[in-house]
Amino acid sequence: MKPTIKTSRRDFIRTGSLGAGALVLGSSLSVLACTKADKRLGIALVGLGGYSGGQLAPALQHTKNCYLAGIVTGTPSKAEDWSKKYNIPKNNIYNYQTFDDIANNKDIDIVYVVLPVSMHKEYTIRAAKAGKHVICEKPMALNAAECQEMIDACKKADRLLSIGYRLHFEPHTQEVMRLGQKQVFGKVTKVETGNGFTYNGDPNAWRLKKALAGGGGLMDMGIYAIQGARYTLGEEPIAVKATQEKTRPELFKDVDETVFWELQFPGGAKVTGKSSYNHDWGYLRAQAEKGNFELEPAYGYGGLDGKINGKPMQIPNIIQQAAQMDDFATCVSLKKQSRVPGEEGLKDMKVVDAIYRSLDSGKWEKI
Ligand code: NAD
Repeated sequence: MKPTIKTSRRDFIRTGSLGAGALVLGSSLSVLACTKADKRLGIALVGLGGYSGGQLAPALQHTKNCYLAGIVTGTPSKAEDWSKKYNIPKNNIYNYQTFDDIANNKDIDIVYVVLPVSMHKEYTIRAAKAGKHVICEKPMALNAAECQEMIDACKKADRLLSIGYRLHFEPHTQEVMRLGQKQVFGKVTKVETGNGFTYNGDPNAWRLKKALAGGGGLMDMGIYAIQGARYTLGEEPIAVKATQEKTRPELFKDVDETVFWELQFPGGAKVTGKSSYNHDWGYLRAQAEKGNFELEPAYGYGGLDGKINGKPMQIPNIIQQAAQMDDFATCVSLKKQSRVPGEEGLKDMKVVDAIYRSLDSGKWEKI
């Protein structure tokens, strides 16, 4: 469904010129072709931690429809370093106190929230209220109720909201979606998937605090495995049963370490998944009536690889985050819903919430 978006003067100037191109060339595809380098949208990254510094800022050096226009950080030395490294003007640098002034900054069209999970809701809503379109990192929020509030706030402000689901723009993943959803080898009857890594980081990090992270390996890594099953089948799960294991309780005293689940889908496929902060997993295996396909690694930033009926996929890897951000910039220019809108984050969080309920009850829980 197309969202309605209020048009600001600046939007009018932009789409005015885009629209003229469309009129001359006569199709919405032509509008895309008119998104030239000089029309690139400005992105501000909020939170300059590992993911912003290691992946998003470097990816923004390869984007065609958007560029790194601003930053929001609580650390003055980071502001200084990033300003020099990425040539960011002083006027486009904010801290958490001055953040709302971003409303007056014409260089910034999109705010990208790359903060601990407990801060996603607040900064998404503040960004939308400041008139900016928003990308929010995964997991979208602490729970499904928060996701809904974020969706509602962005709708109310007539701003687009997208979740940082980079894999939807990744060609191996897109091939799995095609094979599964189009039933190329018949109906998918079984999906097995897991995602995790062995956490040996700071024992005081926000990722290990429930109040900041919402949970452990399930929230951080399991979200990919849940989504892997959903996009392989093209269906929404209806119930889940989960169990967990803790081998390092002193480290994971506040959050889940390893979680196993079984998901019930309407089409009857047998779907199992697992997530961990104590195992290096990253695979997705699908069995269909007349064939099979798999990815391993399935969820990383790069190096994805896969097989179809035992034969290598031979598909190139791309810079996922560049493709993801370019796509959202195009969506903003065309006033078109992203393929990974807030609703997609909400669907995953409904499953996560049900998995936590099942861990508590020991029973099947409806999603
Ligand atoms: P990080 O710990 O490296 O960075 C978090 C940033 O938030 C830091 O710059 C920190 O200073 C800042 N911050 C502001 N207020 C804070 C507070 N009260 N407590 C702690 N930090 C605070 O984390 P990260 O790995 O960059 O993750 C950030 C977000 O990005 C998370 O939502 C995470 O799930 C997501 N992420 C997504 C991917 C992906 O592949 N899509 C990969 C990694 C991280």
